Amino acid sequence: MTTSFDQLADRILSGGAATVDDALAALRTPDEQLMSAVAAAGRLRREHFGNTVKVNYLVNLKSGLCPENCNYCSQALGSQAPVLKYSWLTKDETLEQAGAGLRGGATRVCMVSSGRGPSERDIDKVVEMTSALKDEHEGVEVCACLGLLKDGQAERLKAAGVDAYNHNINTAESNHDNIVQTHSYDDRIDTIGKAKEAGLSPCSGLIAGLGESDEQLVEALFALKELDADSIPVNFLMPFDGTPYENTWELSPTRCVKILTMARFVCPDKEIRIAAGREMHLRSLQATALQVANSIFLGDYLTSEGQDALADLEMLRDNGFVILGMDASAFDELIEEHRARAAGRVASGCGSSCGDGCGDACGDHREQDEQDGPVIRRRGAGTDVAANA
Ligand code: SF4
Repeated sequence: MTTSFDQLADRILSGGAATVDDALAALRTPDEQLMSAVAAAGRLRREHFGNTVKVNYLVNLKSGLCPENCNYCSQALGSQAPVLKYSWLTKDETLEQAGAGLRGGATRVCMVSSGRGPSERDIDKVVEMTSALKDEHEGVEVCACLGLLKDGQAERLKAAGVDAYNHNINTAESNHDNIVQTHSYDDRIDTIGKAKEAGLSPCSGLIAGLGESDEQLVEALFALKELDADSIPVNFLMPFDGTPYENTWELSPTRCVKILTMARFVCPDKEIRIAAGREMHLRSLQATALQVANSIFLGDYLTSEGQDALADLEMLRDNGFVILGMDASAFDELIEEHRARAAGRVASGCGSSCGDGCGDACGDHREQDEQDGPVIRRRGAGTDVAANA
């Protein structure tokens, strides 16, 4: 039997486009029909991306201490979340962290700094880091995410070899002022425009679970379509204690899959990245979500810990995916290297902050922590502990 989602996929594959009503229908799919929607959206994913998954790696260059008041952010002005706080990593520290992610399987490094926007000296640092990174790792893609850009800064990044610029719209314009007051939706659109004009690949996405309505999620997705963002990170709110959204739990695993499915119908040929909150909110549906999304972050997020990098890679392989840009045998070798390293960690004890010598990816402790909220990152950038990559 052909479902209406199949008919929608047929229409899109023959050059049509999803409408607002189609998007709302995908978002409101009854759970018992979810797999029909996933199968139909999965046809679009496979048409454009086959069985590849793009693997990205975050390096938080400067953490916390932000003067902006984005209510959802653990690094914001007024946030009491006990996240790592540090000023700019040095070039060598950045190379070390980025190298860990690239050896771990990533092909894109996303260099992120907290703050309203970069100074010219900040741009100098990122220019130097980018050039060193490109010298050391041939073919690496670099995405910068430094906040609101001033005139000329995007051009400087482009000239230095930066490939993409991330600046999320985060939510619908109609919801924006409820989540941040220190800058406007138009400020954000302006920066995405500056990045595009300079020839940087625009990366812009959203955060679900901020109290938005279904219509506002659809509004945000169509705004991203209009912006023609090449990559669309879909974040699921991680409600950090000590932020205005603490104890805000609006999402379920099936809801998250529906959001990603809707994103695929609306933006069929764009990189849809499952971003922060993947493990916490999708839980056992992470692999199902990859049937419609085609991109993830490996390992940890900016201020919180993701699941063990080996678990990420095994999930991809177990479900028949390959890493974009890596052949199958190299992928197998990568997994074996991770397994050997994990075995070494267990044998020697890792001295992780859980205090039980259980390994920094301790399944028991992580499960416990995730019931309570995000696990604050205590490894990788800004620490002396090895990165999760
Ligand atoms: S999202 Fe960015 S600009 Fe907003 S508070 Fe967090 S670090 Fe600052």
